[in-house]
Amino acid sequence: MISSKKDFIVWKNVSVYRDEQIALDNVNLSISLGENVAIVGPNGSGKSTLIKTITRELYTRWPPPRCEMQILGQQIWNVWELRSWMGIVTNDLVQLCTQPYSVFETVLSGFHSSVGIWPYHPVTPEMEARAEELLDYLEIRHLRERLMTELSSGEARRAVIARALAHSPKALILDEPSNSLDIRAMGELRDASRKLAQSGVAVILVTHHLPDIIPEIDRVICMKGGRVFQDGPKAEILTEDRLGELFGIPVTVTQRDGFYHMW
Ligand code: ADP
Ligand code: MG
Repeated sequence: MISSKKDFIVWKNVSVYRDEQIALDNVNLSISLGENVAIVGPNGSGKSTLIKTITRELYTRWPPPRCEMQILGQQIWNVWELRSWMGIVTNDLVQLCTQPYSVFETVLSGFHSSVGIWPYHPVTPEMEARAEELLDYLEIRHLRERLMTELSSGEARRAVIARALAHSPKALILDEPSNSLDIRAMGELRDASRKLAQSGVAVILVTHHLPDIIPEIDRVICMKGGRVFQDGPKAEILTEDRLGELFGIPVTVTQRDGFYHMW
């Protein structure tokens, strides 16, 4: 039973080790349901580890009560059920989905958390109708029959976002979504994220590229050395002083039309 729908994620004292090195160091974090959040930090600061711990691909070092990891008020989740609450798009997943399956099959595969559709994967008319709807929503209908191996990076990313939305998740987690995209593909991806956020899907965006932070995101959590370094309203966090401290070099920050830029 879900005891509280208000808190989406509540973490207390979460530590994660990778190859015996600490990658998340006693992280305390809470994210409300419906909150749009950016997680920002330099390479190696623990952003992807944080996401993989949410999705239970990585495990916390200490069991309860020493640490607490609740999602929607529950400590223990069936991984499959959990993934239907959250859609996840990472670069690893885009690579994994780059197989000779059509875009339509790839979107449908989101219902089975599989890559491609196999004979033992039932596909109902409702699933097909949802997949068709998502092709229109992500504006990739023209790619319906194209193989994933024949797409540009931006097209593949939108197909994998559509796949992540198959279950109508409450939140979509995007890890470094603009990696290796050209400026036009970045713009298309930003438009897609804005549309999602405006439709009520919470967007949790992991990035070190400030222009990815869409205006719908109000809160920024900064990671440094596996710890939450700063956490607060976007306007307070995305300043030259704070970002300079975060990245360890002097930076210039500008803001235009609700988007931030840093160099
Ligand atoms: P970010 O996403 O912020 O760039 P990561 O979460 O990927 O950072 O990395 C956090 C730490 O975990 C880094 O010290 C990194 O070297 C280490 N790490 C990342 N991936 C692995 C892995 N597959 N095996 C071992 N250590 C890893
Ligand atoms: Mg990463």
